[in-house]
Amino acid sequence: MTHGALALAADAIAQLDHCNKCGFCLPACPTYVETGLEVHSPRGRLSLIEAAWRGELAVGQPLADALSLCVGCRACEAACPSGVQYSIAMQAAQADLVRRRRRWVVSRAAVPPLLALVRHRRALKAAVRLGQAAKRIRLLPVPLAPLAAMLPPTAEVPSVLVPIPADPAGPAVHFVDTCVMDALFPTANQHARALLSAGGAHLQAAHGPEGCCGALEAHTGHPEKAREMARAHVVRWERDLPPDTWIVAHAGGCAAMMADYGRLLADDPRWAGPARRWAGQVRDWAAACMALPHALAFRGTGARVALQNSCHAVNALGQGAAPAELLARVAGDQLVTLPGQDRCCGAGGVYNLNQPAMAQQILRRHLDEAAAADVDVWVATNPGCALHLGQGVRATAGRAAVVHLATYLHERWQADPPAPPDSARRPG
Ligand code: SF4
Ligand code: SF4
Repeated sequence: MTHGALALAADAIAQLDHCNKCGFCLPACPTYVETGLEVHSPRGRLSLIEAAWRGELAVGQPLADALSLCVGCRACEAACPSGVQYSIAMQAAQADLVRRRRRWVVSRAAVPPLLALVRHRRALKAAVRLGQAAKRIRLLPVPLAPLAAMLPPTAEVPSVLVPIPADPAGPAVHFVDTCVMDALFPTANQHARALLSAGGAHLQAAHGPEGCCGALEAHTGHPEKAREMARAHVVRWERDLPPDTWIVAHAGGCAAMMADYGRLLADDPRWAGPARRWAGQVRDWAAACMALPHALAFRGTGARVALQNSCHAVNALGQGAAPAELLARVAGDQLVTLPGQDRCCGAGGVYNLNQPAMAQQILRRHLDEAAAADVDVWVATNPGCALHLGQGVRATAGRAAVVHLATYLHERWQADPPAPPDSARRPG
């Protein structure tokens, strides 16, 4: 064991100072809702971090265990009237614990290989295919069973889509093929691009391989690796994209991470300025679709449809209204608002691997809500949520089909929307 107080940077200490212990964040916190224990609340965790930083609490396994139950949804930040950025303090504490070689975040056997794979997309795709095949023939090493349980039973086959001509007058948009989407939902990536083009986006490419955004690294106590990944993105954007290009991702966690690049690279003398500027141009995919010049129209099939929003799009980006606005445009389907649609589902990046019991407990409420509402289609805006919900629906023999927002909308997209009825037309 390494002794000494928890080491925190100044921006993390500032968050501890800002917290006045009012407790407004408690009801927003999914783990506090589940256990009712102060130690599992944002206020409780901030107090533990502060005590460890002051040297009043040992930096040991009990601290690591208490902090590791946080799912990282940032609902506490959205609820905090004092503007405490809890995640800054939490990530700093995680980083120091990991530096002390406490494998508290990457505690499950399946997680370190997963983090390594995310850095190499081809290997990640190959591993996904292998995992799906092994799952079909029930030949899986025990440590990988929780990971395999989340995989959809079959691989998505990319479709052949009719190309949509670019609108040169539309906003320049760079769509980031986030790594988990690319490996697991390649069709959803195609659908997302197609709908951006249909809305009038002028899609821009940046050259070289699109690496990971760094979110998983930042959330598992490896800020240096996250910074490396952030820098690689900013370098490509600065080199290849027109300066007013929107940076768009349809994984809320990745979009939130990229929107944080300015802070992440604030101490980098060369890239701090560009990182801040590009971070300001990040949009979640649904918010980008809503802001495009051509309104997208959709026709449904009479399905009862519910949404599972990305907590990072809701809490970190403040762009959580857009998915429901897009869904409301689907004529003919019935949008059902579940009480927990904007609440964390328990996926949390690799949280559902590290903390399977709490992840499943949080998910249970969502599954019950979807079952009670008799949902046909459950639309997720984040790949991790789609996997987590899908696993839960399969395990409980639920009837909802879990599908990514981009795929659901693309299937219902009306390339040529019907003309409005005569009474709706304006004279002249
Ligand atoms: S984090 Fe914010 S809401 Fe929560 S106790 Fe501190 S000041 Fe209050
Ligand atoms: S990030 Fe989410 S789980 Fe963690 S303390 Fe905040 S509200 Fe609770």
